[in-house]
Amino acid sequence: MYPSNFEYYRPSNLNEALELLANGECRPIAGGQSLVPLMKLRIVAPKCLVDLGRIESLRTIAIEGDVLKVGAMVTHEEIVESQIIEEFSPVLALTAESIGDLQVRNRGTIGGSLAHADPSANYLPTLLALEAEVVVVSPLARRVVPMADFVKGPYTTDLRQGELLEAVMIPRYRGRGIVEKFAIRKADFAIGLVTMLYKVIEGKLDDLRLAVGALATGPVRLRKVEEKLRGGELNPKAAEDVLKEEVALLQPVDDIHGGAEYRRRVIFTLVKRMLEGLARGRDNEGQ
Ligand code: FAD
Repeated sequence: MYPSNFEYYRPSNLNEALELLANGECRPIAGGQSLVPLMKLRIVAPKCLVDLGRIESLRTIAIEGDVLKVGAMVTHEEIVESQIIEEFSPVLALTAESIGDLQVRNRGTIGGSLAHADPSANYLPTLLALEAEVVVVSPLARRVVPMADFVKGPYTTDLRQGELLEAVMIPRYRGRGIVEKFAIRKADFAIGLVTMLYKVIEGKLDDLRLAVGALATGPVRLRKVEEKLRGGELNPKAAEDVLKEEVALLQPVDDIHGGAEYRRRVIFTLVKRMLEGLARGRDNEGQ
């Protein structure tokens, strides 16, 4: 199917893009991996598209003090391959690595993924666990939104009309991270997503962050499990009841790919295995 007719603009700087978007008739396009299918199905029919592909300032990956700044137009594959990200936040590279297939990763962008806010998007739990912030710009202002407040629900974010997502700011996490994506085939959207960040010092869990994705509510931290285990020996059994309770309260996506109850079981199993793996691991110490 073909999309409805639209005008197409390709500005070379952010101000020009914001001006074009100000009237509310245009829509930004990044990698087009989510927007173009929606246009072809005529679920959306924007009068014009503002292609962000030529705006160099949105393509940068940089470290500013103890924060990693990833521009909105950085592609998933650039995140996988970036030396800076590998050193600063390897868990972000692991997250991008399991997005779709190479074609999708080559075109799709971190900004497009966050703005689209598919509930099963890989970045959501990882950025929540990393306590990242999203930088949003409009012709009048620039504001910073904590990841915890950015996703409001499926395909719904804190972005207002005329605003652009400019970058994602990720504070340094001095620990390790593991990402689990459960899907029927590797390139499919996730049925269950969990990101675990942890720090082990002298056999004790100095820090633990667990964030879950593929939820109808936006990503969620398993705060009670974190609290139960933080500061103690690596003993997953100690948190099993709390994990059960906390998972029972989650509201996973409920669709043809997996019902909510099934997805709860998937999440429970993923977290349990991750914690058991952590307890078994010999090489957990350090950063
Ligand atoms: P676009 O499609 O260009 O835009 C998406 C939306 O965001 C549009 O509404 C657009 O107006 C808006 N937008 C884009 N950039 C900005 C900006 N800077 N500011 C404000 N609004 C903006 N994702 C996963 O996470 N995991 C997967 O396993 C996965 N599998 C996939 C498999 C396939 C076959 C496909 C086609 C996609 C898959 N995706 C997956 C989605 C993929 O990650 C997309 O790249 C992403 O959802 C959208 O990014 P994009 O750059 O293509 O954005």
